[in-house]
This record gives sequence, C-alpha cells and structure tokens, in this order.
Amino acid sequence: MKSLLKNLLIFFVVLLFISGIFSLLSDHSNKPQEITFNRLSEQILGEKVKEITIEGNKLNILLHNKEEEFVIKEEGQSLGDLFENYNLPLEKTKIIDIKVKDLSSKNFFLTIVLPFLIPLLLLFVLIFFFTRKMKGAGMQALKFRESRAKNINLEKNKKRTTFKDIAGVEEAKDELYEIVDFLKKPKKYISLGAKIPKGVLLIGPPGCGKTLMGRAVAGEAGVPFFHISGSEFIEMFVGVGASRVRDLFSKAKKNLPAILFIDELDAVGRQRGAGLGGSHDEREQTLNQILVELDGFNPNIGLIVIAATNRPDILDPALLRPGRFDRKVVLDLPDIKQRESILKIHARNKPLKKDVNIKNIAERTPGFSGADLESLLNEAAILAAKKNKKKIENLDILNSIEKVMLGPERRSHILTKKEREIVAYHEAGHALVSHYLSGCDQVQKISIISRGQAAGYTLRMPKEEKYLKSKTEFLNNISVLLAGFISEKLKFKEITTGAANDLKRATFLAEKLVTQYGMSDSLGPRTFGEKNEMVFLGKEISEKRNFSEKTALLIDQEVSSFIEKSFQAAEKILIKRKKKLEKIAKLLLEKETLEKEEFEKAMKN
Ligand code: ADP
Ligand code: MG
Ligand code: ZN
Repeated sequence: MKSLLKNLLIFFVVLLFISGIFSLLSDHSNKPQEITFNRLSEQILGEKVKEITIEGNKLNILLHNKEEEFVIKEEGQSLGDLFENYNLPLEKTKIIDIKVKDLSSKNFFLTIVLPFLIPLLLLFVLIFFFTRKMKGAGMQALKFRESRAKNINLEKNKKRTTFKDIAGVEEAKDELYEIVDFLKKPKKYISLGAKIPKGVLLIGPPGCGKTLMGRAVAGEAGVPFFHISGSEFIEMFVGVGASRVRDLFSKAKKNLPAILFIDELDAVGRQRGAGLGGSHDEREQTLNQILVELDGFNPNIGLIVIAATNRPDILDPALLRPGRFDRKVVLDLPDIKQRESILKIHARNKPLKKDVNIKNIAERTPGFSGADLESLLNEAAILAAKKNKKKIENLDILNSIEKVMLGPERRSHILTKKEREIVAYHEAGHALVSHYLSGCDQVQKISIISRGQAAGYTLRMPKEEKYLKSKTEFLNNISVLLAGFISEKLKFKEITTGAANDLKRATFLAEKLVTQYGMSDSLGPRTFGEKNEMVFLGKEISEKRNFSEKTALLIDQEVSSFIEKSFQAAEKILIKRKKKLEKIAKLLLEKETLEKEEFEKAMKN
C-alpha cells in the first residue's frame, strides 16, 4: 500500500513536469481575445491596429492601446488576399507593422518532438514502476534452481509445534522420538554401534497429521528443519527439480545436524516407467536425484530425511529399499479415544459451555480425521459466534458434525411437496432396515433437510468401532443402502434419481466383496484384478486383468446375486413393517429431523 502511494506520487510529479513544459512553451500572460475579420477590418479602418504578427494561421494583433487579440485565418490564405477581400485601402494597411514569426524552432518541438517524447516518457515511467515492483519476484525467478525449502527454526516469532500438539498417535511419536533423541545425543547411539535410519516415511490418509508431525519433530529436536513439498520440485523448466533436490540436500548438509522434510512425496515419487510426456520425464529425473542424494551420505552424519505421503502404494519401490525410506510410520484415522484427545487439543483455546461432552462428540464422529475434528470445532465456534453466544454449546458442535460430513444445509433448496414425501419415505426406508437387521449400525439421526449433495440423509453409527468386518455385515450394509430405493418403489410404484448414489455404493461394496475379500463361495478365496494408477497426460486409472473372460462373467453374476440377496432381505423387512415405515415417514414430514431417541421411541410403540 505504501509503495503504491509512493508510485502514484512519482507519477503525478512527472505529469506536473510535462504540463509544466507545455505551459512554458505557450506564453499567454494576459490572454488575447479571438475576434472576427469584420471586427479586425473595422479596427484597421479606425487605425487602431499597431502590429500584426503572423504565426501560421493565427494572426496576433497588437492594438495601439496595448490590447492583444487574434484572428484565425484560412489555411494558405495570405494576409494580402485578406486585406483585398475586405476592401481595405492601402493607406490604412501600410501603417500596420506586419511581422512573420518563424515557427520552425518552437513548432518543431511542439508538433514533432513532443508527440514522440510523451509516450516514451510514459513508457519509461511505466517500466520504472514495474521493475521496482518486480524486484522481489524477479530476483527469485532467477534463483529458481535453488530449492525453496523453508528452514522452520528460523521462523522464531512463530510458536513451535511440538509433540504436545498432536494427539492419538502414540506409536508414531515413539518411533520418531528415537530420531529426535539421536539428533540431540548422537554419541549415545553411535557408541553402541547403532545405525539410525536415514529416511522415515510417514504414511496415512489426508488430514491425519503427517505435515503436523513433520513440524513437531523439528520443534522437538530443535535442529534446523528444511521443509519442502514434493510439488515444489516440479516447475515449468526442465531439470529444475533435480537441481532443487541437489540444492536442498547441500543446504541441509551445511547445517548438520538437520531434518529434511519432503511433504507429499508422491508428487515426485511415483513409480517410474509409467506414462509419457515431458512432465513425467522431469519427475523421473527429480526422483532419481532424490535416490542419488539419499545414497550419497553416510548414516549417522546427523541428517534425517522425513517424507510424507498418503499414497504409499504408488511410490516407486526404489524409494522404499533399505537404506532409503526404510522406516515407515503409519498415522491412521483416529479411533474413539484418539478422537477424544484430538478434540481436547483443539478445544484448548475455545470457550466451551459446561454441557459440552467431548467424549460424546468423539463417539459421534467415526471416520473423522484430525483435520476434520479441527474443522468441526471451528465450525461450531463460527456457529456460536453467529448466534452471539459467549461460549460454544454442545448443540453447536452436534450441528456442525453434519456440516463437516455432508456439507452445509441448503434450506433454500426447496423441494416440492411430492419430492419431500419421496425423500421422507426414502430415508425412512434406510433407517428402518438398519434398525431391524442385526449387526447393523445404529441410526443416529434422520433428516429430510438438504445438505451438500444429498436431498436427505440418515446418519448411522457403528455400535462399536471394529477393524474387521464380516460378510454378513457387508450384506446387511448393502441392504441398508438399497432400502431407500425399495421404499420409494413400494410406496410410489416409481423410482427417482435420488437413489443413484446409494446404488453406486451398493454395487461398489458387492464388487469388493467378490474381487477383494474372497467372500464369494463359487469364486473362492482369491482376489481379482489389480488397480494400477498410471500417469498419462494427467491421471488415468487402468485395471490390470488377471482373469479370463469366463471369470469376468462369473464375477458379474456373483455381484448381481449378492445385490439380489440383499435386496430381497431389505424388501422383506419393508413389506412386513409397512406401518412403521409410514409412521417414520410421516414423522419426518412433520418434524424434518428425527434424533436417535425420537426414532427409537417411535420404533418401540
Ligand atoms: P496431513 O498432512 O496428514 O494431510 P495435516 O498434518 O496437514 O494432515 O493436518 C491438518 C490439520 O489437522 C493439522 O494442522 C491439525 O490441526 C489437525 N490434526 C490432524 N491430525 C491431528 C492430530 N493427531 N492431533 C491434533 N491435530 C491434528
Ligand atoms: Mg500434509
Ligand atoms: Zn439414500
């Protein structure tokens, strides 16, 4: 802002300067008046005119009484002709001093030089401004070969992130604590002949705190920490990635002991040899350089490379070889206990009302990542602030859960009466089947308020968090997914597009059952197909087939039969409990949203 003001000021000074030149060139001290030829001839006849100066087409007239006037004549018309046309007698005109001003010097400047000079000057001014503006960025463009790694320890004004800011990843912390300890007291380890890993790979789904963990390690160790993201290696210019890698490692080696953190390693570390195209070659070179650098230093010199990725499956196997990123630390989605502790961390600087039950919130948020939980509390704070509350209430947080999960409510999204009815029966169908099938998730909430993409939604919660799932549970889940579709069909003898997403998910589940989990009796315990992500001018997923056409047909049939079986199970329930279905749907139409307790009460009687 300041520099803009300064620039504007300079601009005005230049403008003033230019207009100054103009005013100097045209000397009009007491402005002469323009008059007509008739008036001029009258004055000549009255012998009032002392002097006429011809200046191009302008006749400057000086009267005896010192007054000045002027007349503009036609181009190419001489003064003699003019006098003749107005029948002015010679004795009257003879007494006037006639002067001709030489225009060439002044006019040359005004008409020829200035039109050139002004744009030129403006151009200079503009260039001047831009170069001043670009100085910062421009100089950086020249240094593009250098890595833009940020040394976090230099950012002293910021509060350091430490292990205290991460919750629920105790194993990962233990694992990384070794490294921190080594960097602090290397002798302890070296004297025992221990080799500390050069490379540690943090693996986990997005939002699980990988980047945060990288920062925390640096904060704990108190050593220089170089942070770069994989995508920063790839630029327009070929060869930049590799030289940035070289620069990054040499920078780190000058500051030993140090930690080098490569975030989003998959951006450069994809499997080589897949796909075509310039960007791909560039990535390959970058990756090669990383491998070279990883091999190029001795362990125990005090340099540790930490990388993070959420796609370990697509990483080049060479990266994972012993001596490179051989230590893998998994950061998984938090379970209920871990969610509770993550929530506590993010609730630290938020005033919560007494009724807030963190444990209950943790129960209601299975599948949430650390980032989701942070955003949940943030949404709740915004919601509370909107209502001018001084503290965040439990209800604010509960309402935010759905917002984080499904997107904001769309109350403006107005359904017709008929549509509302369809959505009510659809959601009631999901809830009912989920309620009656054993081993199914509990219904937590049903709503026919649009949210994000969905016209309505049924939130279900597992009774307990489990890592293993049985075939029965899968089939029941497919039944619940299909229940919306079936309920619509039973009630309205018609199907809408509202069930499309359910069907897609049901089919996906059934496919997985057959091809990934070996849960089909007729096909046996084996997997089929291999998903392979290739890079070919962008992203493309190709599936490798390792089975015959005949097997493909069998898989298709099995998937269909699983869906059919689940369909029938759901249909049976919905037909048998038709009255309950009606009841729940009507309740929904009346109240829009049913909480768990209301739903269960309605199911009981
Ligand atoms: P990733 O790099 O794995 O995608 P981030 O490290 O960027 O995820 O996490 C995003 C944010 O989520 C963090 O800044 C932090 O606020 C929050 N977060 C994630 N995991 C945790 C955790 N285990 N404990 C506390 N906060 C977490
Ligand atoms: Mg990250
Ligand atoms: Zn549905």
